[in-house]
Amino acid sequence: MEVSKIKESSKKVKNLGKTGKTRMFKHRKDAFQEIAEKRMVELLALAEMIFKEDKALANRYVFLARKLATKYKVSFSKEQKMKFCKNCGSFLVQGVNSRLRLSKGNLVIKCMDCNVIRRSKYK
Ligand SMILES: [Zn+2]
Repeated sequence: MEVSKIKESSKKVKNLGKTGKTRMFKHRKDAFQEIAEKRMVELLALAEMIFKEDKALANRYVFLARKLATKYKVSFSKEQKMKFCKNCGSFLVQGVNSRLRLSKGNLVIKCMDCNVIRRSKYK
């Protein structure tokens, strides 16, 4: 009886250790990642400001933000992802160079620069 109990408890401890490690690894953010995240937000805001005057510069800001995201493994939020085209990397403004439609429970965003369609579900 006692031996089996000890075995069970040791199993539990092992499992806890494993899950703890993976969780720690997933949610850990270092200082570089925090700085990169702030810079990405700034760059997208700058792109939004400059878009009317200079589209090429806005696209350049998007390029830099995406480069930061890949280098420091920081992911964009859902709202941020809607602001640029994954295919051609151009900054998207609804009604100017992108089209947004709702159909069959899907959010459909079309990039008018490269004609690529991106769908995502909405509630
Ligand atoms: Zn595009």
